[in-house]
Amino acid sequence: MANPRESELSYPLGDTLPGPGEALDLLPGVRWVRMGLPFALDHINLWLLRDTVDGREGWTIVDCGIHNDTTKANWERVFAERLDGLPVLRVIVTHFHPDHLGLGHWLTERWQCRLWISATDYQLARVASSSTVGMGGEAAATFFGSHGLTDPEALDKIRGRASYYPSMVPAIPPAFRRLMDGLTVRIGDHDWRCLVGYGHAPEHISLFSETLGAMISGDMLLPRISTNVSVVDVEPEADPLQLYLDSIARLTTLPAETLVLPSHGKPFRGLHARIDQLEEHHRERLAEVLEACTAKPCHAAELLPMMFRRPLDLHQTTFAMGEAVAHLHLLWLGGQLRRTLDEDGIHRFSA
Ligand SMILES: [Zn+2]
Repeated sequence: MANPRESELSYPLGDTLPGPGEALDLLPGVRWVRMGLPFALDHINLWLLRDTVDGREGWTIVDCGIHNDTTKANWERVFAERLDGLPVLRVIVTHFHPDHLGLGHWLTERWQCRLWISATDYQLARVASSSTVGMGGEAAATFFGSHGLTDPEALDKIRGRASYYPSMVPAIPPAFRRLMDGLTVRIGDHDWRCLVGYGHAPEHISLFSETLGAMISGDMLLPRISTNVSVVDVEPEADPLQLYLDSIARLTTLPAETLVLPSHGKPFRGLHARIDQLEEHHRERLAEVLEACTAKPCHAAELLPMMFRRPLDLHQTTFAMGEAVAHLHLLWLGGQLRRTLDEDGIHRFSA
């Protein structure tokens, strides 16, 4: 959902964007690459960090882009023109989603280098690339059905999307190096501290450099849209929204002037304002959900028109369902709503 308080943020580069196959100098030793995506969200930001590993000069890549020929071709152009003749030495991935990890296998093979990622996201990627986790298939259809999505056509389509993740992430590197909360990674002239974030992915890692005054936020903080926070079939009683809100609250200890390098949108200043905006956004959604469930017991599907206020295609509906359940679960697990499983097999929530 678009950010109504976007004017509180500032974009130091204005409207300047790197074109396909380009890499824009952003900070000393930090370059910004932007790749296309075949979704409504049509791009992802990736970062090049000047590095030295085992005595070799080169670059670290942060996040990979989606697996397709266009992205590979644009990477080849970056390699030819924007690495100053140096190799890629490692690939850091913030979390397991296809736009971030998709080309991880190709990049690490291409450069014979290591993937760095959290252990939880690595393991889930291994599972998801050979089965289905939250993105489609029978389990997802059953889960959405239990939250009131009963349209047979929609459920059939969800069943049919069993290979959604593997189609975008066909292979996972066979080995990895573990990133975890609090770990400091030396990259070139700068220390980057790993900051774990929960609620969007199992163990999302953002990176903060005090000396550069910058944070690579991944998907945990985006300037224009709120991060997707969903309950999925593999963990059907999860409380990801509380986890997400706790995670971004921890980021308020970072300096206010930090330059935030998000995965989608433009690099921005206004870290504390953005956290405040996201907290307000979710507070408002939670108040609406609580009010609706106070008026009468509600399931997730019937909350979508109120929460999203626009027509949703199937892809958007699955995300919206996950988000609606996440809001219900925060209130349920926080003790403000009760959950019942009714005779029609649907969970309803009431105050
Ligand atoms: Zn993501």
